[in-house]
Amino acid sequence: MSMRHSGIGMTSQRTRMRMVERLREQGITDERVLTVMNTIPRHLFVEEALSSRAYDDVALPINFGQTISSPWTVARMTELLRANSSLGKVLEIGTGSGYQTAVLAQLAQEVYSIERIGSLLTRTRIRLRELRINNIHLRHADGLLGFPEVAPFDSIMMTAVTTQVPESLLEQLMIGGRIVYPKGSQKQNLCVIEHTSQGFIETILDEVKFVPILSGVISK
Ligand code: SAH
Repeated sequence: MSMRHSGIGMTSQRTRMRMVERLREQGITDERVLTVMNTIPRHLFVEEALSSRAYDDVALPINFGQTISSPWTVARMTELLRANSSLGKVLEIGTGSGYQTAVLAQLAQEVYSIERIGSLLTRTRIRLRELRINNIHLRHADGLLGFPEVAPFDSIMMTAVTTQVPESLLEQLMIGGRIVYPKGSQKQNLCVIEHTSQGFIETILDEVKFVPILSGVISK
């Protein structure tokens, strides 16, 4: 961790503990998720000018018109994806800051994460390398196509909102696996899709607010 962050690092330990207590009060019950979020330095995933607000329960801008999801959103989506069992091999669509990716990596075997904005991914790649998280594989591509070369996945998380999960992603989900994503457009809700031997079962949950999923890639 670089020197310029070390001062913040000292105080953020306590701030992080308070964040975790708040998450518990807000109904997060998966202790493994809470433990992981207690260890990951969230302030390193936002611009330095915003690092004092990194542990507040808000989404913050991360450039290119994108946002890092709020702590509650990250915790809730991770707990829904885990459902108290192993995450196994995970596909994440929308790497963004890489914070959610880092949380997943501590609870999964391997995490494959796809981001469509090249410059955003370049920065995130450096950040995750500095934190020495080694079971993350980043890819600059359109996540709507999934990652057929390494499919099928045990778990898939989308961190941008869509009205419908594309067929290509459903096909890359193992039987017994699940997808968590924000569903909708104006009004949005977290949604869980379970892949059973009988087919796909969808459950609509908490109301949320996400940036939209877009197709295609941009290099800048
Ligand atoms: N989990 C991230 C969320 C970032 S916002 C974080 O907390 O930092 C959602 C991200 O999804 C953005 O970075 C956006 O560029 C990306 N995204 C949107 N559509 C995409 C697509 N089709 N493929 C890959 N990434 C996409």
